[in-house]
Amino acid sequence: MDRRAKELVAAGERGISFAAGEPDFPTPNVAVEAAVRACHDPMAHHYSPAAGLPELRSAVAKKTNRDSGLDVGAPNVLITSGTKQAVAHAFTIILDPGDEVLIPAPYWVTFPQVVALAGGAPVPVATDETTNFKLSVADLERHLTPRTKALLFVSPSNPTGAVYRREQMVQIGQWAAEHNLWVVCDEIYDHFTYDGAEFNSLPALVPELRSRAICLNGVAKAYAMTGWRVGWMVAAEEVISAGINLQSHVCGNISNVSQLAAVAALEAGLGPVETMRETFATRRGLIADRLSALPGFECVPPEGAFYVFPSVRGVVGRNVGGHVVQGSQDLANLILDRAQVAVVPGDAFGAPGYLRFSYALGEAELEEGLSRLERLLG
Ligand code: PMP
Repeated sequence: MDRRAKELVAAGERGISFAAGEPDFPTPNVAVEAAVRACHDPMAHHYSPAAGLPELRSAVAKKTNRDSGLDVGAPNVLITSGTKQAVAHAFTIILDPGDEVLIPAPYWVTFPQVVALAGGAPVPVATDETTNFKLSVADLERHLTPRTKALLFVSPSNPTGAVYRREQMVQIGQWAAEHNLWVVCDEIYDHFTYDGAEFNSLPALVPELRSRAICLNGVAKAYAMTGWRVGWMVAAEEVISAGINLQSHVCGNISNVSQLAAVAALEAGLGPVETMRETFATRRGLIADRLSALPGFECVPPEGAFYVFPSVRGVVGRNVGGHVVQGSQDLANLILDRAQVAVVPGDAFGAPGYLRFSYALGEAELEEGLSRLERLLG
């Protein structure tokens, strides 16, 4: 949908995209400057360790201590090509054929795909707006079988923006530990929480999980570095050494220039991240209220990430300008065709009946996009 909006813009139309899963900010200067220096450094022109550059592994370990509260060192870190590759590596490392992985739904579309690629069986565990898209131990229990190997946990979540409370996380973590499950924790939105919601790392809250926890993160979202492709996994050394073997055969090392840019970003501290967070907080206020006011939309104010995930079931069956809306996919197409506004249908996240709006776009565009929706659907 994002690509189609960009094609509209390229064709001279005023396309507006709420479909992008990336910050609209440029990468902080310190990172760009470090990359320029790295380009001129012959060290960066050659192969480097598959585990990642030692200085980046150390910087990631420090960041993980500070933000996730995990007492880890450089040997617990594997640098990957984006967090996406860390997700894929995690499941390749832990799954045997047929192993089941519990995945809270709505889910980021990559999760079930990489579980399947690793020979596992994704088991979606449905949630909806009645629980603010958070699952309980009872929900997990209903999906537990002798083949359950792992739980995927992501808070703040893409696409729902849900952020778990500490007590809920302790219950879920203890349940996973009791059943000897692995937990794969995607912490990529750790810095983006609002209204007093706070990020927590599951193995920090439930220390029994630590030997079977794999925490994933990267510079993509927090430092507006999606295109640089630097992510990582943090886990027990045994897991990391399996990951290094895998990495050495799959892609060797991650681009040295990108790794050195990531070191500079991490070492510069949280100033640029906080500026972005404050901007997202303002936009979040703008978008959540106006979407809720649209007839047929129901919107839980998201507490994290940079997405809103309203239910649009109330619009299905309605006649919009001569077209009877068939479902969320159909509605997303209609909005793009009639208003040149791109949104992602919930169908992509295992949740038909919803739309995902990213608010990682400038405020003028955001306002214009919402006005167009109000004219079309209001
Ligand atoms: N995890 C989640 C939950 C995401 O939303 C995304 C990006 N959409 C990623 C991982 C992938 O991030 P990266 O660009 O670092 O591969």
